[in-house]
Amino acid sequence: MHGSAPILPLLRPYLHRERLLETAVRLMEVHSPTRDAGAALTVLADILAEAGLDVSREDADWPSAPAVVAWLHSGKPGPVLQFDCHLDTVHLPFKPPRIEDGTLYGTGASDMKGGTAAAVEALRMLRELDLPARGSVLLTGHDHHEGPWGDKRQVVALCRAGIHGDAVLLPEYQAAWLPTAGRGMAIFRIDINRVQPPSHEIHTDPETPDVIGAGLDLVGQLRNLPLPDSPEESPAGRESLFIGKVQTGEIYNQSPQTCIVEGTRRWLQPGAGADARRQIEGVLTGLDARHGTATALEWEQQGDTFHLPADHPIVQVVQEVHTELVGRPLPDGPKLFIDDGNIYTAEVGIPAVTHGPDALGAHTVNEEVPVSELERIALLYAAAAVGFCQRPGNSAVSG
Ligand SMILES: [Zn+2]
Repeated sequence: MHGSAPILPLLRPYLHRERLLETAVRLMEVHSPTRDAGAALTVLADILAEAGLDVSREDADWPSAPAVVAWLHSGKPGPVLQFDCHLDTVHLPFKPPRIEDGTLYGTGASDMKGGTAAAVEALRMLRELDLPARGSVLLTGHDHHEGPWGDKRQVVALCRAGIHGDAVLLPEYQAAWLPTAGRGMAIFRIDINRVQPPSHEIHTDPETPDVIGAGLDLVGQLRNLPLPDSPEESPAGRESLFIGKVQTGEIYNQSPQTCIVEGTRRWLQPGAGADARRQIEGVLTGLDARHGTATALEWEQQGDTFHLPADHPIVQVVQEVHTELVGRPLPDGPKLFIDDGNIYTAEVGIPAVTHGPDALGAHTVNEEVPVSELERIALLYAAAAVGFCQRPGNSAVSG
């Protein structure tokens, strides 16, 4: 790793648990629901500037919460490793930070202010040790991650502005395996409408379009839609169409005007989102012809398929460090959720490793993360930066 010597014994004395926790608490004290993470990002920028990093802000297509861009330059050309952190949290009631019996609780503890604090601590350790010896480490912090409130526009804008590394680590709550393959995914919402307003059942002409009948027809058709084959061996899983919400009607004897059907469509072939959308549009055309309704489809593509090349240096470095830390490499596994790594891979073709603390309760009001896991991630990120930046043969973007 570091020359021929193991890097962890060198790093360990520079890991400060109290400093890491103070960082986490400062980030968590500022509530930052998606699209409103500006104040929390300002706290992150202050923390990174206090740590001696070269910090700037970029609007990144969301001027009310400019993204944080912080560099740790070695001063010598070499690869750039990026830590990418979203500071926005899902729209749930705020729980203030609290540390009890070696566990950090509160909004963002898992997703992902805890992991962000660990990444910040890694940068502090590196800076104090004058590492990496070549190349640079880049930390980006941003809003607009959590759907459906956010649309990932800030990561897209950073990519399009050329602000990214040669590889990226994302400290999400994913610790048990290395996500190497993932499906593309879109959230759909179909509104089945009729022109006629809601009416009492006894005043409703039998010829009036029945949006509940159309909705049942639609649900049946979507469930039986022939999906592309899913190869047995596909590590990402299977093609799917899932319906999670059907909403219609106001009271028992009123004929409603609207029926709404919502769900997800996940696919295995890169770029297949457009075909998947067209297939559903075909179903809707037939539906309107049969029922006299007018349907509208909203299609929010969250990300395309994901692939992490196993032979890329960042994967090798993470596996080496993980083995040094816990005695074994991470097993390969599917990427179950779409995260910003999908965007980095699709937009600029860089490998994205999602690995963070083994935390609980993401997307609930009961987030918690063991402090020992935050320490593990700080060490892993610092060691991975040393290993990746000094490894010969990594792509040659200079830092
Ligand atoms: Zn997250």
